[in-house]
Amino acid sequence: MTLSADPSFYIHNPSVTDDSLAPEGKSTIYVLVPIPNLKGNIDWEKEKGKFRDLILAKIEEKTELKDIRQYIEVEKVITPLDWQNEFSVYKGGVFNLSHALDQMLYLRPHNRLEGYSNLYIVGGGTHPGSGLPTIVESGRISARLIDEEFCKTRKSCLWTKKEKTRRS
Ligand SMILES: Cc1cc2nc3c(=O)[nH]c(=O)nc-3n(C[C@H](O)[C@H](O)[C@H](O)COP(=O)(O)OP(=O)(O)OC[C@H]3O[C@@H](n4cnc5c(N)ncnc54)[C@H](O)[C@@H]3O)c2cc1C
Repeated sequence: MTLSADPSFYIHNPSVTDDSLAPEGKSTIYVLVPIPNLKGNIDWEKEKGKFRDLILAKIEEKTELKDIRQYIEVEKVITPLDWQNEFSVYKGGVFNLSHALDQMLYLRPHNRLEGYSNLYIVGGGTHPGSGLPTIVESGRISARLIDEEFCKTRKSCLWTKKEKTRRS
């Protein structure tokens, strides 16, 4: 895996809706660029500066921000190496498993972990996938599975009993 010469990116300017993020008259701009994780064998110490320049060139080429460089006062570039070293993110892959079809939805690790009757997992690396709305759903699925299991042996059920009553 190598770095693309024409990477996609998205730009967010959260200071438009939250003026606490930058001094008056200024902005905090956030740019996200999908790139390979550390399995990609990219020398980030070497590539970081060049890739940062490429992204700024692409922003200037493809957006209205033609002169963005002259307005930069403070910047921080975070690479997969930084995610690994500073935040202990495995291989610097902040989106967990791949967004490829063979690692999405049912094909991600299941919420009740296979091979165990009482081990539940939740989060971006779990079914159904990463991204905040999906992770909230992952939490609901795990909570429901736990509830169903507890409902068999205890009287305290959060949803399962109520749903059964509603359906009958
Ligand atoms: C730069 C960036 C931009 C993103 N943008 C978006 C976006 O625009 N939209 C979107 O939907 N998603 C976005 N995501 C993805 C989203 O943020 C993640 O998929 C999501 O936060 C993952 O949630 P999680 O609960 O699985 O893990 P996390 O949010 O990482 O939560 C795991 C928690 O566990 C804690 N933890 C770790 N190890 C231990 C331990 N041993 N003991 C106790 N606690 C521990 C960590 O401190 C952390 O608080 C973005 C991610 C990044 C990094």
